Amino acid sequence: MRRSAHSHETAMNARILIVEDEPSIRDLLALNLRHAGYEPQLAADAGSARSQIDAALPDLILLDWMLPDQSGVDLARRLRADSRTRELPIIMLTARSAESDKLGGFDAGADDYVTKPFSPRELVARIRALLRRRAPEATDDPVEVCGLRLEPQTFRVIAEGKQLRMGPTEFRLLHYLMKNLDRVLSRSKLLDGVWGDHVFIEERTVDVHVRRLRLALQPSGHDRLIETVRGGGYRFLPQ
Ligand code: CA
Repeated sequence: MRRSAHSHETAMNARILIVEDEPSIRDLLALNLRHAGYEPQLAADAGSARSQIDAALPDLILLDWMLPDQSGVDLARRLRADSRTRELPIIMLTARSAESDKLGGFDAGADDYVTKPFSPRELVARIRALLRRRAPEATDDPVEVCGLRLEPQTFRVIAEGKQLRMGPTEFRLLHYLMKNLDRVLSRSKLLDGVWGDHVFIEERTVDVHVRRLRLALQPSGHDRLIETVRGGGYRFLPQ
């Protein structure tokens, strides 16, 4: 997928799947999310949402309650029952506002709830808050570990006052590693977290990009922070 060079957008655009059958609302949501620097993906029903999620894990789902094929609540329940999608942040959209419906949405595993008609500005604020809570690596905050600084807003990695050059995949990979310090990350976990996809990419691809990332970090010696865990995957160790 090509990323626009628009200054608004960063290399860490969170992918947000909009599941909404009303085209006018879907377009309005997509427009607002794009403006806020997110990468919207569109689905008009639950079936299309499911196949998109199977192909690539989004960072968050905006899920309409009433869909033509399956209710949003049922889809949310299904996502929560699957280990791959259990942690996926979900915001339910609905025209209903009765208290009992809200409880139904939360029972099904929604993290937040927005009632139509909604203010796009408020919705974006809620998305931001939820991403911060659930997927810190999808936010734009700079991270710094052992003198290595990564700035998602400017797409820069800086060490010892100098900028380190790397490709967009290495950048995303480094960001994910820096946000998951000390944790052993399997190749499939990295594929889901960095590529958002565990279906069409071979696990060997991860090794290729880790190698490139180590090369990019060599000038400042930070390549030593990436540890290969035999039979486990990789770990970013502050030392
Ligand atoms: Ca609907």
